Amino acid sequence: MPNKWGIRKIAEAIGFSKKDHSGHKHDCKATLERVMLALDGELSETEEKVFLDELNCCSWCLDKFEIEKSFKEYLCDKVKRHTVSSLVVDQIRAKIHNVQE
Ligand SMILES: [Zn+2]
Repeated sequence: MPNKWGIRKIAEAIGFSKKDHSGHKHDCKATLERVMLALDGELSETEEKVFLDELNCCSWCLDKFEIEKSFKEYLCDKVKRHTVSSLVVDQIRAKIHNVQE
């Protein structure tokens, strides 16, 4: 299985200035900010539709969404098995988002 989401690739993509796709203003950062909200079920139905459209037109965002989704499933699984304090979860989240190196 290829390592699709090496930390370097993510860092590069986050520090990017990506071109718009033929006039469509797609903002990877803004879309990513919605990933967590979407996964937490905090987007309205309309917002979710827009968000999914954005994902579908950007393979990078889609990849990132899959990563977050897998990560969340992993965390949920962990939380079910053991009691993981929310502090630990926050720390892991911070690590994932802190991909500057
Ligand atoms: Zn994107």
